[in-house]
Amino acid sequence: MIDSEPWTCTGCGAPMIGQRTPDDMCRSCIRVALITEPASPGPAGAGPFRTEQQARAAAHQAVAPEPGWSILRDAGNRQLLTGALTAAGVGLGAYDERIVSWLAGWEDSICAVIAGWITRATIVPERTP
Ligand SMILES: [Zn+2]
Repeated sequence: MIDSEPWTCTGCGAPMIGQRTPDDMCRSCIRVALITEPASPGPAGAGPFRTEQQARAAAHQAVAPEPGWSILRDAGNRQLLTGALTAAGVGLGAYDERIVSWLAGWEDSICAVIAGWITRATIVPERTP
């Protein structure tokens, strides 16, 4: 039997034929993932993200989409971003709020990445004596 099943790499979107991997990524993407993923990742849902799908899943884990929607709308994205900012102790001025509202108009996966940066930036690495 010839393994000629077509599939798409979830990392880079490259069309592949046969030799499908368990996590649906091409060899290059698996290599990159192994190098860039830290041994002990940050808080759940804060990344690092390898794919848009991972970022979107993290967004929906933090804030559930409205009924009938497969993505977060502005209000959900806003909640995601302000949640990360509040948890990080970041105070917002009026102009900051405007930028949050502007960012919330983008895709939930993009907002999840930015929220992840904020969250991961607050992680203080454990020091070993
Ligand atoms: Zn790939």
